[in-house]
Amino acid sequence: MVTGGAGFLGSHLCRAAVRAGADLVCVDDESSGDRANVADLADDPHFEFVAADVAVGLPERGSVDVVLHLASTASPVHYLQRPIATLRSGSLGTLHALELALTHSARFVLASTSEVYGDPLVHPQVESYWGNVNPIGARSCYDESKRFAEAAVMAFRREHAADAAIARIFNTYGPGMRTQDGRVVPAFIDQALRGAPLTVAGTGTQTRSLCYVSDTIDALLRLAASDTAGPVNIGNPHEVTVAELAERVRRAAGSESSIEHIPLPQDDPTRRCPDISEATRLLGWQPKVTLDDGLARTVAWFRGERQPATDSRSA
Ligand code: UDP
Repeated sequence: MVTGGAGFLGSHLCRAAVRAGADLVCVDDESSGDRANVADLADDPHFEFVAADVAVGLPERGSVDVVLHLASTASPVHYLQRPIATLRSGSLGTLHALELALTHSARFVLASTSEVYGDPLVHPQVESYWGNVNPIGARSCYDESKRFAEAAVMAFRREHAADAAIARIFNTYGPGMRTQDGRVVPAFIDQALRGAPLTVAGTGTQTRSLCYVSDTIDALLRLAASDTAGPVNIGNPHEVTVAELAERVRRAAGSESSIEHIPLPQDDPTRRCPDISEATRLLGWQPKVTLDDGLARTVAWFRGERQPATDSRSA
């Protein structure tokens, strides 16, 4: 079962899992996902779509082996608009997903986030770092609900010996992101392709480390198949400033767009880069797709828009 299976990451995960031979139940309330993202799987006898809000409850099935819990708004623009729903899916949704996994003695994987590190004071971020989160800031609805979700995983492990794991996913991009997603890569690509100015927040000196979606999915599937509890950082340690990212997107799109500086959002992390030693040691994983290659594939998908993201190289 994949919660949030019709979202950006979820739809790639569903596709990869069905291709690998899974019988899959995709649960999504389509608040930020869209069943069109999994339209190519709709007729597959091994795939089922269920419209449900994880904060309310999950569908029951006779047997469930693995629950991958991705259901959450993940774009800052959108979770800032829906802070209470974000808190509900991260808290109640995670408890429901953990309870379902426990009932079936299923393996459980939480899609947590680099946001649990907040605006980190340790660089690069290692899993043992506790983070620097503003609990009452605008982003706290996301950060704190994911921190609650991690605490819930650990409580289920301690109290019920649940087979549950935590993936801390860093910025991921690729085909299948919505133009209106709000996150930086689709925003820049859409602007570059329209010849509109690229909106760089603040000075653009803040950094992010961007992982191509097929690499993230590979890591999540490895974690699901392992008995590792984590938390495990999943991300690409190639760190770039947002200003440099704008340049690379312009190049990838062959665009002459100008740069326009917009206000920096509140609590926008200054630096973000994963230490992935644990993922390499425990899962034998490291990312393969370079930033320029990944951007080229994503630009091509945005140009060809907007089929389900079936770029055969992307999952
Ligand atoms: N950003 C930007 N222009 C945009 C959208 C985002 O410069 O149009 C910046 C944002 O302020 C942040 C970085 O890009 O510093 C990554 O933002 P995103 O929303 O993709 O995800 P975050 O890593 O902040 O969760």
